[in-house]
Amino acid sequence: MLVDNDVTQSRDKGSELQIYLKYFIFAALAIGIVVFIQLGFILKTFKPYYLIVPVILALALGFLFGHVSILRNRLAHKNQLFLAVADFAQEFTYYRLLDGRYEYASPSCFDLTGYTCDEFYQSPNLMDKLIHPDDVEVWGKHIHKINNAGQPDNLDLRLITKDGKTIWFSHICGSVFSADGKQVGVRSTNINITDRKKTEQRIEHMAYYDSLTDLPNRGSLSKHVDELTKSHAAGNERFALLFLDLDRFKNINDSFHHEFGDHLLVELAQRLKRCCKGRGFVARFGGDEFVVVVENLGDPAAAISYAQELVELVEQPFVISNKELYISGGIGISLFPYDGQDSATLIRNADAAMYRAKKETHSCISLYSKDLIEDATAFITTESRIRQGLSNGEFIPYFQPKVSMKDGSIIGVEALARWQTQDRGMVPPDEFIYIMEETGLILPLGSSMLEAVCKQIGKWSKQGLSIPVAVNISSKQFAHPRFINVVKQVIEEYNVNPNLIEFEITEQAFLEDLTSAVDMLLQLKELGLSIAVDDFGTGYSSLSYLKHLPVDTLKIDRSFAADILNDSRDVAILKAIMSLCNDLELKTVVEGVETQEQAKLLLQLGCTVAQGFLYYEAISAEELTEIISRKNIDT
Ligand code: C2E
Ligand code: MG
Ligand code: MG
Repeated sequence: MLVDNDVTQSRDKGSELQIYLKYFIFAALAIGIVVFIQLGFILKTFKPYYLIVPVILALALGFLFGHVSILRNRLAHKNQLFLAVADFAQEFTYYRLLDGRYEYASPSCFDLTGYTCDEFYQSPNLMDKLIHPDDVEVWGKHIHKINNAGQPDNLDLRLITKDGKTIWFSHICGSVFSADGKQVGVRSTNINITDRKKTEQRIEHMAYYDSLTDLPNRGSLSKHVDELTKSHAAGNERFALLFLDLDRFKNINDSFHHEFGDHLLVELAQRLKRCCKGRGFVARFGGDEFVVVVENLGDPAAAISYAQELVELVEQPFVISNKELYISGGIGISLFPYDGQDSATLIRNADAAMYRAKKETHSCISLYSKDLIEDATAFITTESRIRQGLSNGEFIPYFQPKVSMKDGSIIGVEALARWQTQDRGMVPPDEFIYIMEETGLILPLGSSMLEAVCKQIGKWSKQGLSIPVAVNISSKQFAHPRFINVVKQVIEEYNVNPNLIEFEITEQAFLEDLTSAVDMLLQLKELGLSIAVDDFGTGYSSLSYLKHLPVDTLKIDRSFAADILNDSRDVAILKAIMSLCNDLELKTVVEGVETQEQAKLLLQLGCTVAQGFLYYEAISAEELTEIISRKNIDT
């Protein structure tokens, strides 16, 4: 309803004047009567100015009553206007007190909720009871906030109407304050947005679902696979991607008609959906191509048998428009993480495998990696054997001495893991460390190596030997939140002198978050441990970060020792590293020294400590004890 402001105002002014006049006349009459009654007494001495006081009184009273009446009229008018507007509005507007009682509920509450204004007035907090169970938590938080004068939210929520329908509504509200700034209530507007929500859901569905089969489309397949690669990256679960392509589908389209082809695709989609329900994610990739993603299916043999099941499903006869039809298809399989780390690579490789299955091998199923069956099975077998080995205590430390290049004396040792197996003898780390890194088993290995080293240091100290031992720490171990606690616990349990332990950590561990790395290194040093940067010079080396790291030693990677005799650039780099270490007061150890020539040149370049087959290989604790005891006796 539109109200012409000027008209109402001029009309108001005219009527307000009349009201003043009316009350003035009333007051004048009343006073006139009083004066008239008194006149008898004062008649004899009456003077005209005696009328001044009654007239002023009449004017004052007339003004007072007139004004009060006008204010009341104005209030009533405003109220009428408010009701005219609020009652007319399509959105449900309410004002409620902080205890939940509704002081005003607009009639459109009925359209939105199915409840009348009176029902709102009679049941405080009625809105709370209507909110959809899935939105109750959000609503509860919002009410708590707004009842405590917090910033108002603009929420899209669902409510359940009196007749049980679910309605989407947009809720806007704000606190109402009294003149002295105290919160007194909450006003709110609620708009039905069910149609808008439905449209949004339809648009979203169109973006992620195939319009013919109603299966997830290519976009949602990529999204799903990328999410899986992220969630599976840390753990040891794997998944398989099966790419199905129908044979000669074009012929079907050409021989019958496109609607027939469409019908067939819809039927096939339904079959796939039914077959994979609860076991896999089915998507239509395009045309006659479908992709099935199956979680916890890293074993190639299991993936192949799943694919076989799908092939058989495709080969069962279809009856479309009363025609019986037989079709076939080929499936290519890619496995995460072996065949790709992201959706694009995994899909591309499964597609390539499917192509190969059809064109080259004339079989209907193919894995992307030809040797994958053997490799993957070997990996999985090794992984489960490693787990067993860990619980049987088959992983033990061997010790490779670090020597002074000047006199050949042993100045410390590095503990290197060895796997003592029944059938294959002593297995070196190359064969198990990468599996442990990938599967997270490096964490229990790290703890068990640290324990074994502490135990050995204890034994040596009982024999009067004090040998510093370096322990390798994987970057996964270093980044683990409980790492520092594990270290403290083990050192305490075996009561070893922490000054005898050095941690060897590769640069990789420091790269991701330098600040937390520095923090962790400081905590380790506070315990009394020393720190060495292992394999320095490989991959990421940035000399500049060294000055930020509280480390004691740099272990120069064995590739330098291997190449210095042939490559002058390696000599130059080594020189630069040595001079930097001098400036930063860092100790150095050159790894992998194998020949006298290398040792000679390294000595010339200022290296003083080395580790390598020229001096010792990694040996058992017993052998090392014997060597050291002998040396002690010799000297
Ligand atoms: P690393 O820490 O750099 O250890 C040195 C490796 O170089 C050892 O191999 C050692 O035997 C080898 N080596 C020493 N001198 C020579 C030499 O003159 N020539 C040649 N060609 N090689 C030499 P190993 O024992 O096979 O260990 C390989 C890697 O496995 C280690 O490299 C380390 O990164 C990892 N590793 C071993 N034990 C553990 C462990 O307990 N925990 C962790 N996280 N990693 C470990
Ligand atoms: Mg090392
Ligand atoms: Mg090393």
